Amino acid sequence: MSLHTLTVAELAAGLKARQFSSLELTLHFLGRIERLGPELNAFVTVTADRALDDARRADELLAKGEGGPLAGVPIAHKDIFCTDGILTTCSSKMLSNFVAPYDATVVERWRTAGTVLLGKTNMDEFAMGSSNETSFYGPVKNPWDPRRVPGGSSGGSAAAVAACLAPAASGTDTGGSIRQPAALTNLTGLKPTYGRVSRYGMIAFASSLDQGGMLTRSAEDAALLLKAMAGFDPRDSTSVDAPVPDYGAELATPLKGLRVGMIREFFGEGLDPAVGKRVQDAIEVLRANGASIVEVSLPALPLSVPTYYVVAPAECSSNLSRFDGVRFGHRCDSPRDLLDLYKRSRGEGFGDEVKRRIMTGTYVLSAGYYDAYYLKAQKVRQLIAADFARAFGEVDVVIGPTAPTAAFELGAKTSDPITMYLNDIYTIGANLAGLPAISIPCGFVQEGGKALPVGLQLVGPHFAESRLLSVSHQYQQLTDWHRRVPDGYA
Ligand code: GLN
Repeated sequence: MSLHTLTVAELAAGLKARQFSSLELTLHFLGRIERLGPELNAFVTVTADRALDDARRADELLAKGEGGPLAGVPIAHKDIFCTDGILTTCSSKMLSNFVAPYDATVVERWRTAGTVLLGKTNMDEFAMGSSNETSFYGPVKNPWDPRRVPGGSSGGSAAAVAACLAPAASGTDTGGSIRQPAALTNLTGLKPTYGRVSRYGMIAFASSLDQGGMLTRSAEDAALLLKAMAGFDPRDSTSVDAPVPDYGAELATPLKGLRVGMIREFFGEGLDPAVGKRVQDAIEVLRANGASIVEVSLPALPLSVPTYYVVAPAECSSNLSRFDGVRFGHRCDSPRDLLDLYKRSRGEGFGDEVKRRIMTGTYVLSAGYYDAYYLKAQKVRQLIAADFARAFGEVDVVIGPTAPTAAFELGAKTSDPITMYLNDIYTIGANLAGLPAISIPCGFVQEGGKALPVGLQLVGPHFAESRLLSVSHQYQQLTDWHRRVPDGYA
C-alpha cells in the first residue's frame, strides 16, 4: 500500500516505528498536492515551508521517542480556522487579505498533538453552501467524478482527503457541512456534540449550530483526531467542561445488543432509491452482526430545513456585521463617507449567497417579523430536539442516509437555492438539536458511467461520540467501502 492511502492511525504507528520519517511523508503529500491539487482546487493556501518545519520538528522528537500522539502526521485545515501568520479567508473576497494573528483552539490542539500543517482548504464562502460552489476561489471538483461537486461547505477538505492529498482534514458543520461532503466523497465525517469542540478562532457562521470536527478515512482516525481536538476551552463560553474519553479505547465495543432506530421520515419521498438501497444494505450488516433494528418516527424532523433557514441566517446576519471594511478584511477604494465605506466594502466583499443569508436574517429578526419567524423557528427547534430525545428513550442510535442523492453535477443546483438547501434535509436536525452525528461510507451507485459514493448517517444522544465511533468502527471491520480510493488517486 502506498503512503498516501494509509490512515492516520497507520501513519502515526509507522512514524513511531521509524518506518518512514515525517519529512519523507510530508514531501510525499506536498508532491501530490502540487501534481494533483490544482485540477481539484481543494486548497486555498498550501503551507509548504510551515509543513517542512513542522515535519523536521516532529522527526527530532520522534528520534528521542517523544512527541504527541499524532507526531509527524500531516493534516489540512478548513480555511475557516484561524492560523497564526497564515492567510485565513473563509473562501470570501471579504477576508482574501486576512492573515490571522492567532491559532484557533482546534489548530493549536492538533498542533500540540504533533500534526504537520499542509495547508488551508477551499470551502463555500463563510461555510454557506452544500456544493463548494459559493467559494470566491472557485468550485472544488469531486475526485470520484470531476464533473461533480464534492459537497459543502467543507468541500476542499473532503476532496483533499478523498484524493489522498492529505490523510485527514478539519471541517465545520452548521447544517451538514462535514457529513454531506464526507458522504459525497467516501469519507468518514464526524460532527461532535455542540460544545464538545471549542469554536474559538473558528470564524462564526451561526453560533448556536457551528461545530468543528473532521473528515478522515476511518472511524478510528476520527477517534484519534477527536481526542486531540475536544475538551473545555475557557475562551469559548459554550464549550462544555466534561472529561474527554479515550475514544480510541472504546472502539472495540461489539454491535451485539445495540438498539438502532431507522428514521421513518428519512426513507420517504425525495430519497434516491439507489441511495436508499445502499443504506438498507448497511443496516442489514448491523442486524446480521447482533444489532436490533426498529423503526422510529421523528414527526417534527421534516420541518428542519425551514427552521434552519430562519435560525442560521438570523445568526449569520449578526455575526457577519463585524465585516464592515473598518476592522477586518476588504475595504473599498476611496470611500466618500462612512456609509459609503460600509456599503461598498460589504457589497464588494460578499458573494450572492452570503448576501441572501444576511438579508433573510435581517428580515426575520426585524421588529414585526421576529415573533412570526424567529421565535416560531426557535419553538420548532425545541420540537425537533424533543423528537430526538424521545427516540433516544428507545434506541441507542438513530440511522438513515446522510444525503438524498449521490454527488450532483457542478452547476446543477446553483440557480435554485431551495433545491440546494434541500440537500441537507437529513443532516440539519442534528445541528438544531446539538447532537453528535457521523457519516460513513456504505457503498456506491452508478451514475453517468461513474461509481459515486453513498454515506450512512448515525446520530446519537449528546456526548455519545464514543458510541457513534465504535458502531462505525465495527461496521468498517465488516466492510471495506471506506478503503476505496477514486481512480487515478490510488
Ligand atoms: N449547507 C448548509 C448551509 O448552506 C450547511 C452549511 C454548513 O453546515 N456550514 O447553510
